[in-house]
Amino acid sequence: AAEKFYEDDADLSVIQSKKVAVIGYGSQGHAHALNLRDSGVEVAVGLREGSSSVAKAQEAGLPVKTVAEATAWADVVVVLAPDQVQATLYSTEIEPHIRPGSALLFSHGFNIHFGYIKPSDDIDVVMVAPKGPGHTVRREFEAGRGVPVLVCVEQDSSGSAWDLVLSYAKAVGGTRAGAIRTTFREETETDLFGEQAVLCGGVSQLIQYGFETLTEAGYQPEMAYFEVCHELKLIVDLIVEGGISKQRWSCSDTAEYGDYISGPRVITPDVKEHMKEVLSDIQDGTFAKRFMDDQAAGAPEFKKLRAAGESHPIEATGREVRSMFAWRADVDKDYTEGSVA
Ligand code: NDP
Ligand code: MG
Ligand code: MG
Repeated sequence: AAEKFYEDDADLSVIQSKKVAVIGYGSQGHAHALNLRDSGVEVAVGLREGSSSVAKAQEAGLPVKTVAEATAWADVVVVLAPDQVQATLYSTEIEPHIRPGSALLFSHGFNIHFGYIKPSDDIDVVMVAPKGPGHTVRREFEAGRGVPVLVCVEQDSSGSAWDLVLSYAKAVGGTRAGAIRTTFREETETDLFGEQAVLCGGVSQLIQYGFETLTEAGYQPEMAYFEVCHELKLIVDLIVEGGISKQRWSCSDTAEYGDYISGPRVITPDVKEHMKEVLSDIQDGTFAKRFMDDQAAGAPEFKKLRAAGESHPIEATGREVRSMFAWRADVDKDYTEGSVA
């Protein structure tokens, strides 16, 4: 089983004696910066000129610098800009200004593990990765709780990188819930596999095939949407609470029997073979290269796939059905329906 760390394993004073630059003030960036500040850590936010995030950080009372200034000022540089911009940001704004003896901290291992960022050997390279969206990380911290975090050290130049990682994990609330020890390689490869094969890719395709099967057989799209998409949340909530067993316990015996009989007919052993191919493309860097090359070219493939997904009939039906739910407006004030298209 994984090695885990809690409050008593971490010394908050380590990070309290450092100047911390949080680069980016998005989902993770705002949560890390505010939780660090509330834990008594000296924080500045690093943003590009004209960034739409400057006002938000200033409203929260945080000092804002350029990425270069923040890097030169800091003992710990926390890279929380989107993964696809980190490599260029690093080579242009961070690398020329980072001081020997300082630390680089990430919340996802993509750029380090696949070699898009190659830090010099006189700095520590570490990770504290909350296992939840940034808005949950902030909300839980304010409530006196925390979101579990993954912690690892890729490069321990100072010899004290572990003390720093655990102290940072404590300051963002992570050790309240527990910090799990991993490696950059394991975090990166399992994260990509999970989102591609199961959570995002697998589930989206499963829902779309279910919707197509019912509507092509003549059932009304609203009915199809409820049965193969809307109710997914109820099932997932049960799985999160008590595993697959609790989900089966809570459903009707009819549903449970159908699960055993038909699940393996739909998700056949060749699906697992395809999962292994997906994993292999992740492990050997094929996926990373395809993503980064496309991003570098202005993301033509990404934009085409996003538009195709948005035009699937289930999206129009979903918008109709969801407008029937009054509580929907409270769910996410930052997300506008259809804004990703
Ligand atoms: P976001 O997309 O929310 O980050 C956006 C922030 O980055 C904004 O402040 C934006 O400012 C800034 N930014 C964008 N481009 C640049 C640039 N070229 N130079 C400087 N700043 C820029 O990122 P996330 O919080 O989603 O992800 C950050 C890291 O955390 C990633 O490594 C991700 O994998 C990891 N992570 C994310 C999780 C999540 O909950 N989203 C969960 C766990 C890990 P501007 O206004 O200038 O665009
Ligand atoms: Mg991910
Ligand atoms: Mg049903």
